[in-house]
Amino acid sequence: MTDDSPARTLSPDEAFELLGNETRVAILRTLGGTEDPVSFSDLRERVGTADSGRFNYHLDRLTGHFVRKRAEGYELRRAGERVVEAVLSGAVTDAPVLERTQIDQPCHFCGAPVAVRFREERVELYCTECPGSYSRTSSPTESGTDAPGGYLGYHPLPPAGVADRDPEAVFRAAWFWGHLELTAAAAGVCPRCSATLDRSTRVCEAHDAGAGLCETCGRRYAVAFDLSCTNCIYDESGAAPVGLADSGALVGFLLDHGLNPFAPTAESLPRLNRAFHDVTERVVSTDPFEARFTFAVGDDRLTLTVGEDLQVVDAERA
Ligand SMILES: [Zn+2]
Ligand SMILES: [Zn+2]
Ligand SMILES: [Zn+2]
Repeated sequence: MTDDSPARTLSPDEAFELLGNETRVAILRTLGGTEDPVSFSDLRERVGTADSGRFNYHLDRLTGHFVRKRAEGYELRRAGERVVEAVLSGAVTDAPVLERTQIDQPCHFCGAPVAVRFREERVELYCTECPGSYSRTSSPTESGTDAPGGYLGYHPLPPAGVADRDPEAVFRAAWFWGHLELTAAAAGVCPRCSATLDRSTRVCEAHDAGAGLCETCGRRYAVAFDLSCTNCIYDESGAAPVGLADSGALVGFLLDHGLNPFAPTAESLPRLNRAFHDVTERVVSTDPFEARFTFAVGDDRLTLTVGEDLQVVDAERA
């Protein structure tokens, strides 16, 4: 590895300011589409700036942090590649639409078919029969058009992930994408920027989810976690069992049953989904916090005992 790191990092203000210019964005996009370094004149021609002096000024501003100058020409640094990747992940030719569509996937609670819908870079999941995991209803703009009971949660997916896939494949891609993100987040690494995440747990002390959802907290599980990045704007929260995605004991248990969460297939996904969601929860103590989560695959059980911040303190199979 050669050390040609920029002399210093940019502040967020500087980075936004640098990118707020058409020519500079065009330079990044052009370099993002080439394998080899591009010479100054070639790059200027491709970007289409007639004025060489002006072009030089803009290229110069990018060089260091976003662009690297080598003897052979200019190329993107990793930061420049990330800008282009971020733009392309959301910039598909047509904004993809996936209206609520029933797919051939069973609800992990009741077995009824689920429906998926794509909105705001999320694949939302709804059960067509049971109350789902959260008592969230849809946005007010939609009330009356369909009663979106049975909300089961969502998986993040950039718009590019919807293109060229049927609804079943969108769901699989979203599950996989979300699981990778979740595993990083559960391990305390921000899936957007890699910085440290702050994590806290919440417990509904009056929890009663006998009928499916608790009236006090509106959730199926009493324990929820909240994550927020110490550096970027990433934040996330969810039910405790999914916050245990990085547990080696859990991953080992799933793999022993032929369930690889890092390579879900059409066949394994219903069982994987069920393993992560049909979990028995027992809050042992709130101060200090301790809870037990029992995962099941077939007749086999794995119980994870967790303490503060959802750290696994014991794992037991039965
Ligand atoms: Zn259901
Ligand atoms: Zn509750
Ligand atoms: Zn972050």
